Amino acid sequence: MVRDDEKQLIRECIDALRQGIPGFKSRRPQMEMIAAVANTLSRCRAEDEQAGNGDHLAIVEAGTGTGKSFGALVPALVMAKSRQKRLVVSSSTVALQHQYADKDAPTLQRLLPLQFSCAVAKGRRRYACTVKLQAEGKLAGQRGLDLATADTAACTDETPRRIAVLRDLLVSFDAGRWNGDRDDLPIPVADELWDRVTTDRQGCSGSKCPEFSRCPFQAARQRVKEADLVIANHDLVLSAIDMDGASVLPAAQETIYVFDEAHSLAAKAVEHFSARHGIRGAIEWLDGACNAVRDAVLGLRLDEKLIRDSRVSSERMESALRELHRCIHATNGFEEKRARRFKSGPLPAWCQGAGEQILDAGEGLQKTFALLREHVLERAASAGTLATQILSVLGFYVVRLDNLIDTWELMLAELPDGAAPIARWIERHDEGGRPGDYLVCASPISGSDKLRKLLWNRASGAVVMSATLTSCGTFDLFLRQSGLGYFETPTFLQVESPFDFRSQARLIVPAMRAEPTAAEQHTQEVGDRLPALVDTPGTLVLFTSARQMRDVYALLPEDLRRITLMQGSMPKGEMLARHRAAIDRLDRSVLFGLSTFAEGVDLPGDYCTHVVIVKLAFSVPDSPLEEARREWVESRGGSPFIEITVPEAAVRLKQGIGRLLRTVHDRGRVTILDRRIVTKRWGGLLMRGMPDFEVVIERGRGRSVATPSAAAAGLKVRTAGGP
Ligand code: SF4
Repeated sequence: MVRDDEKQLIRECIDALRQGIPGFKSRRPQMEMIAAVANTLSRCRAEDEQAGNGDHLAIVEAGTGTGKSFGALVPALVMAKSRQKRLVVSSSTVALQHQYADKDAPTLQRLLPLQFSCAVAKGRRRYACTVKLQAEGKLAGQRGLDLATADTAACTDETPRRIAVLRDLLVSFDAGRWNGDRDDLPIPVADELWDRVTTDRQGCSGSKCPEFSRCPFQAARQRVKEADLVIANHDLVLSAIDMDGASVLPAAQETIYVFDEAHSLAAKAVEHFSARHGIRGAIEWLDGACNAVRDAVLGLRLDEKLIRDSRVSSERMESALRELHRCIHATNGFEEKRARRFKSGPLPAWCQGAGEQILDAGEGLQKTFALLREHVLERAASAGTLATQILSVLGFYVVRLDNLIDTWELMLAELPDGAAPIARWIERHDEGGRPGDYLVCASPISGSDKLRKLLWNRASGAVVMSATLTSCGTFDLFLRQSGLGYFETPTFLQVESPFDFRSQARLIVPAMRAEPTAAEQHTQEVGDRLPALVDTPGTLVLFTSARQMRDVYALLPEDLRRITLMQGSMPKGEMLARHRAAIDRLDRSVLFGLSTFAEGVDLPGDYCTHVVIVKLAFSVPDSPLEEARREWVESRGGSPFIEITVPEAAVRLKQGIGRLLRTVHDRGRVTILDRRIVTKRWGGLLMRGMPDFEVVIERGRGRSVATPSAAAAGLKVRTAGGP
C-alpha cells in the first residue's frame, strides 16, 4: 500500500510541476497512471523475497500526448527514494535516452520537492581507455615526427589524418578539454580509430590499472553507483542482468525499473541471447590468440606451460573447425538459400561431433586465458602499463572465444520437454561469387524465458510502458514475447489519449487495383497515385522494402522527386533536418522511409500531415529464426499466421499510424495503399485497437465494396466513390 507520506509527496510533486511548467496540465489519465505506478511500486520486493505473482509489475500502454514519462517518473522517484531502491529508466532509442537525460530529469531535479541525483549509464566502449589512449597518442606523436622528415609520397592520405586525430585526442584529454566520453567529442571519430583507444571488460585491469584514477569509464561508473536515478538503455540492462553483478548498473534485486518503448525489449532480448561465429574467421584469430598468449608469457616471464596449453587447445579446435567446414561444404543442403537451418531435435552427427570437440577445446582455451589473466593482474602493479596493454590484446581474443563458446552451448543445448526450441542454422557468406566463410548461428526463438528468470523475477519492481503494447486490441502478443505472461497479477493500464481522433484525422483506404502480392503492378500503381497524394506540407511515405521504395522513387515525376528525401541517400538525422527546414520555408517535403521511420520519429504539426503506408508490414517468413518460431507454434497446434504474423503486423501498423498525431493541435490523414486490410478477413484483426479515426474506404468504379473489415473491428466506416 502507498503510505500517506508517499501520497503526500506525490501530490506535492504534481503541484510543483503545475506551478513550474507553463501550460502543464495533469489530466485524469495521467493521474490514473501515477496512481497505478505508485500502487504497483508499493509492492516492490525486498532483496531476498521470492518471485511472486507479478504484483510488483505494471504494464502501461500510453500513447503520445499522455505525459507518460512524468506519469511514471514522478511516482517511481518517490517510491524508490522512500523504499530505498535505485531507479533505472531504460529506453531503446538514443533520442529518447537524450530526452530523459537532457530534458526530463533536469526538469524534475529543478522543480520537485525531492532531492535526487542522476547519471547516464553507457557501455564501457563509449569511453576512452586512458592506457590505450596514452599508448596510441604517444605512438601517433612519434609517427608524426617521423612523417615530418619522411618522403610524404610514401604515406597514404589517411595516415597523417589518423595520426593527427589520435594525437589531438590525447592532448585534449591530458589538458582537461575532453573528458574521454565519445559522445562529448567535438568532432566524430571513425569506429575503426575509436576501437584503438577504447576497451572492453576483458581488456581492462580494473582497480589494478595504473591509470585507474584518471579513467573516464571508472569515473562514470562511480557516478552511476552513487546516483538515485540512472538513465540507461535496453541493451545495457540486458547485458547487466546477464552479467550477474559485474555490470555498471545496480543489481536487479535492489532496482525499480521503468522501461520506456518496452515493445522493443523482447526483440532486443532475442538478439542479446543469440550468438554466432564465422568458421574461417575463428581459424584465423586462433593463431593470433596463441601468439598473444606467447607474448604475454614471455613479456612478463610467466609459466611457459600456458603457451603449450594454449597451443594444444587451439590445434584441437582448429582441426574440429576445419572438419566442420569440410562437412558443411560436402553435405551442402542450402538449396539456393543463404541459410541452412537445422530442425528442432538432434543435430546431424557430423555437426554434433565437431561441435562437441569445438566446445571442449574452447573451454580448455578459456581456462588458459583465465589463468593467464590472473597472472597478468598479479603483475599489474610492477609491470604497469605493459600489463594493461597485454590484457587489452588478450581481451580481444577472449571476447571472440566467449562468443564461440556461447554459440556452441546454444547449438548443443539439451532442452527440457516442452521448452521453446533454439533456432540453429548455418549461413553462407560468399566472396566475389565464390564460397567464402560459413557462419554458425544460434538463437532462442523467444527471449521470454530469460526475461522472466533474469529480470522480472529478480527486479524489485518494474513499470513497462510504450505507445504500442497491444496488438489486435489485446496485450497477448507482448505478454507472450516479454515473459510477462507468466505472471498472474501484474497491473494493466491503457491510458486514454488526449487526442480527439475523430476530428483530428482520417484513415483512407483507396480503391487500389493492384494487391501488394502483385509486386510490379502494385509498385506502378503506388507511383501513379503518389503525385495526387502529396497535397499537404509534410508527407511521410512508409515502405516495407528498400527495393520497392527505390522503384517507386524512380517512377515519380521530376518535380516530386526534387522534394522527396529517400532513406539511404543521407543519414536519417540529416533527412529529418532537411525536411523540417523545407516545411519551415513553407515548401512541401516528402520523406520516403523504411521501418526505422515508423518508430521514434517525431514530426508534429505541418512536419507530418499525411502518412502513406504503402504495404502492411508482415515479417519475412523465410528467415531461419522466423521459420523456427512458426514451426514451434505449429507443433503446438496453433496458427503462426494468426498468433505471430498478424499481431506483429498490427504493432507495426499502429507505429506507422502513430507518426501522424503528435499533439492535440495536429490534423491530417493516413492512407493505406494495401487493400488487403479491407478485403481479407484478418484485416479486421489488424484494425482492432487502432486510433478511432474516421475511416474512409473508397469504392472502385463498377466494383462492389468488400465487407469492410474495419467495421468488423468496431470502427465507424464511411464508404466513398473511387476514381
Ligand atoms: S584499463 Fe580499464 S581502468 Fe585502466 S584506463 Fe583502461 S578502462 Fe580504465
